Amino acid sequence: MREVPDFPLPGVVFRDLTPVLADPDALRAVVDALQDRIHPDTQLVAAVESRGFLLGAALGYGWRYGVVPLRKPGKLPAVTHRVSYALEYGEATLELPAGSITPGQHVVVVDDVLATGGTAVAACELVEKAGGVVTGVSVVLEIPGLGGRERLAGHRVEALLTV
Ligand code: IMP
Repeated sequence: MREVPDFPLPGVVFRDLTPVLADPDALRAVVDALQDRIHPDTQLVAAVESRGFLLGAALGYGWRYGVVPLRKPGKLPAVTHRVSYALEYGEATLELPAGSITPGQHVVVVDDVLATGGTAVAACELVEKAGGVVTGVSVVLEIPGLGGRERLAGHRVEALLTV
């Protein structure tokens, strides 16, 4: 993992997992460890754009989950639900593709990093708006002290590492 100071804004230290994903053994170790902690009832992965896509696709292929991309605005041809939220640096919106979650489906939210939790809370809201049942939030890295885990109270939160 690489620490990049002042990205994307002055004063923010960005934790860059790109080197982890680029290493074949580290990638496999991370994906296996995420899978070990996913609730056994899970049927579907909701993967947060964009690094969540890489992890979500690996989990889906490896353990036969379906994968749904939660996307930034303007990317999807058909959207069922949209949630806007505050980020550590700025504001953001996530959108859920139409017809991607069946009511009652058990869904895990996957992303690379949990910081303030705004993104993960929005992802859980999208799943629940579509009638899905959130089985947990799985991330590689949790940055404690920003309130992410607290904002996700009531959800199972699995992080492989904290800084
Ligand atoms: P949160 O919404 O504040 O929890 O931020 C988490 C979202 O922002 C995730 O989608 C991450 O990919 C991204 N993010 C926030 N901080 C970092 C970081 O330090 N490294 C990598 N991604 C980050």
